[in-house]
Amino acid sequence: MLNFSLSPEQKAIQKEAREFALKELLPVAWEYDQREETPMHILHKAYDAGLVNGDIPKAYGGKGYGVLDGVVATEELSAVCPGLATSIFDNSLGMEPLILCDNETAKQKYLTTITRDRKFFAFATSEPTMGSDVSSLRCMAKPDGDDYILNGTKFWITNGGIADYVTVFATVDPKSAHQGICAFVVETNWKGVSAGRHMPKFGQRGSNTTAINLKDVRVPKENVIAPPGQGFALAMRTFARTRPSIGAFAVGAARSAMEFAIDYAKKRRAFGSKIVNFQAIQFKIAEMYQKVETSRLLIWKAAWEADNGMDPNVSASVSKLYATEAAFEVVDQALQVMGGYGYTRFFPIEKLLRDTRLFRIYEGTSEVQRMILAGHALGSYQPVMPSLEDLPIHNRNDFDDVDVETAPAVWRCRMCGYVHFAEAPPKECPYCFFPASAFKEIERP
Ligand SMILES: Cc1cc2nc3c(=O)[nH]c(=O)nc-3n(C[C@H](O)[C@H](O)[C@H](O)COP(=O)(O)OP(=O)(O)OC[C@H]3O[C@@H](n4cnc5c(N)ncnc54)[C@H](O)[C@@H]3O)c2cc1C
Repeated sequence: MLNFSLSPEQKAIQKEAREFALKELLPVAWEYDQREETPMHILHKAYDAGLVNGDIPKAYGGKGYGVLDGVVATEELSAVCPGLATSIFDNSLGMEPLILCDNETAKQKYLTTITRDRKFFAFATSEPTMGSDVSSLRCMAKPDGDDYILNGTKFWITNGGIADYVTVFATVDPKSAHQGICAFVVETNWKGVSAGRHMPKFGQRGSNTTAINLKDVRVPKENVIAPPGQGFALAMRTFARTRPSIGAFAVGAARSAMEFAIDYAKKRRAFGSKIVNFQAIQFKIAEMYQKVETSRLLIWKAAWEADNGMDPNVSASVSKLYATEAAFEVVDQALQVMGGYGYTRFFPIEKLLRDTRLFRIYEGTSEVQRMILAGHALGSYQPVMPSLEDLPIHNRNDFDDVDVETAPAVWRCRMCGYVHFAEAPPKECPYCFFPASAFKEIERP
């Protein structure tokens, strides 16, 4: 049975996240964006408020939140600052492979530690030479007895400069693509691990992004969370559960942009009227509202599937693709409603526009989501309708030159759809001139 209402617990999570975002993020978001700095004291406050590790299972001392609980909170944080929300959310992304894996020793060690101590967890598949094509990663994992030695550079790593732990995806053989990929929990204070400089970015500047360099890093076997051959699937299973959250970031940002546009339109005057009275402005607001609502429904559906034991992969892609593209359109239209003021740094829309642009890139670009959806629609998707050539004849009355009721058989030209009533197909189709072999017998009473 479908139910679109949040439980009392989910409403409490939403309230808590909303209050935190308004009280703690709103006063500092623009300042840290301008300074291109990550406010550690805010991340610590989010940690202490229970907004960082909600999804750790109860068995390891966590709250055991589901994906839906997470997206509800994420929307609220991102409504105030997508960049800070990204850094706050990053523990969930970094830990998801660990939560999904079978390595009980690593789970006990890291998941229980992280519920007690303020520890940050990053996620690293991307490298300087690859992002979308995870199967082509090059970071080397060389077996050495029971351990592995890691060498390579992971790139674009959110919280890379502040994380205590990183889930590193590497390969035992770059030539073997998916088959060689494995995954490890790496502690950033281990010998050979170093972070690069914080990268200057277009948006989400309050979120730390660096490379992580690995030079002869010895990883003990206890820290292998996916042996060679299982790392690629683990990364994809992770994304299927975290992509709805990227959609939720987008909804939060779009919702705020819409609210700012409404506020402005109700006050701004032009041509002797408040601009909100112009239907052109009202229609923009209507479209913003429609996109926010539609996006949220898709995200909640994907989250619900993840929480109810289904494979959320396709719905996760649908929700990420739709919500992130819709959000950029909403923020862009909100900027238009605010005219020149929307384009200044005095108002928050320009920051929202810069921040929102990233959603179409990380955790799988829009093109990657389209590849996943095309693969599904053209592959495992089960159509309901019969194929075009097997459709029943819908235009029997069009054939006044034949007695369709007494015809011994009915043939359809596979090329142009022409329907022929006779014992045998015609020598060639009178419409497209294809030969008799193009005809399929579709009825013989
Ligand atoms: C701020 C930021 C934070 C990030 N955080 C993390 C993180 O924490 N951890 C992590 O591992 N990564 C992270 N990333 C990396 C991010 O996931 C990648 O940037 C993303 O997956 C795209 O990879 P790429 O940049 O290498 O682009 P490429 O893969 O090189 O793609 C370039 C363009 O080509 C398109 N393209 C590629 N292949 C195809 C195809 N077959 N058909 C059609 N189009 C295609 C892409 O869609 C894109 O438009 C982050 C990135 C940014 C910018």
